Amino acid sequence: MSRPLRAEIDLEALRANLHRVQAVAPGSRIMAVIKANAYGHGFVPVARALADADGLAVACLDEALELRDAGIDTPILLLEGCLDPAELMEAARQDLAVVVHCEDQLRMLEKTRLVRPVTVWLKINTGMNRLGIDPAEARVFHARLAALGAGRATVLMTHLAAADERDVSMTEQQVRCFDEAIAGLAGPQSIANSAAILGHPGTHRDWVRPGIMLYGASPFSDTIGAEEGLLPVMTLRSELIAVRECRAGDTIGYGGDWRCSEDMPVGVVAIGYGDGYPRHARPGTPVLVGGRRVPLVGRVSMDMIAVDLRGVPDAAVGDQAVLWGRDLPVEAIAEGAGTISYELFCRLTRRVPMSYRNA
Ligand SMILES: *Cc1c(COP(=O)(O)O)cnc(C)c1O
Repeated sequence: MSRPLRAEIDLEALRANLHRVQAVAPGSRIMAVIKANAYGHGFVPVARALADADGLAVACLDEALELRDAGIDTPILLLEGCLDPAELMEAARQDLAVVVHCEDQLRMLEKTRLVRPVTVWLKINTGMNRLGIDPAEARVFHARLAALGAGRATVLMTHLAAADERDVSMTEQQVRCFDEAIAGLAGPQSIANSAAILGHPGTHRDWVRPGIMLYGASPFSDTIGAEEGLLPVMTLRSELIAVRECRAGDTIGYGGDWRCSEDMPVGVVAIGYGDGYPRHARPGTPVLVGGRRVPLVGRVSMDMIAVDLRGVPDAAVGDQAVLWGRDLPVEAIAEGAGTISYELFCRLTRRVPMSYRNA
């Protein structure tokens, strides 16, 4: 397929964002979160570029194996832990650290013979109510893990539900709950995701777990990455494949519900929801054409979108269009589509070729 669409990944920007984490949380080790194909940016190139991170976190064993198969020997953490003893044995063989978030996973560790001890991150539920043991069980779990004689300290972790919100009450409540649960227990601690790294220094502790900020987007709904000292890593580019002179009253695209108020040029850009551009992006969502912001018009199709070219009257077929990235913050498109940057990145489809710069 020779569509002009591609996602350019700037690995220098990725490394700069990692340094931003180091600058903001200088006393903490960094567990770089690269689950879900590195938030859509490509597992292996991203993992290689993050060689300075202290560890890489993925959701599950398959993701970790993809990295190990590519020769990446950085420490890796499985954020959901292991589902069965076979997975646990493989995790030990591959020297992966595992989350333990429930009794079943602890029992599995107690019963399974492993080629080498695995490092455990004990996840305590402090209010997210997704994964994690009850805070009251932390002491017993910690003692049972110590009794395994693994010789590696258990990392004590929790995950925050609302660190991205300006109302800090839930975060403060979760941190208090965590501190009470682990009082007196030995071992490194880990609480902070990107929002907490930037907004709650008291959560930095021994390990921080940045995800979205590494990719240059803000975890907060009221700022963009640049305002947090971050650089966009992905620039999603395509081209104008048609320009037409529409008449006042013409409608654009499916449903015919967007109508030209006057005679105007309308451009067609080769990208659609089949590529991962959000179908719910509202008219007015910005697109960069020839370096100028122009508004989306009409509905997003599978392979195409239409834009109002009144602001760039000399635009022509073959002109560059940027959907998000450099000079067009992904947060603006997330806002226009009623979603978050995380989802836009993760939902790019296999149709979008990735190209890497500054490896
Ligand atoms: C995904 C994830 C993170 C990273 O979150 P961001 O908001 O992207 O920084 C951190 N910790 C855990 C447990 C996660 O699942």
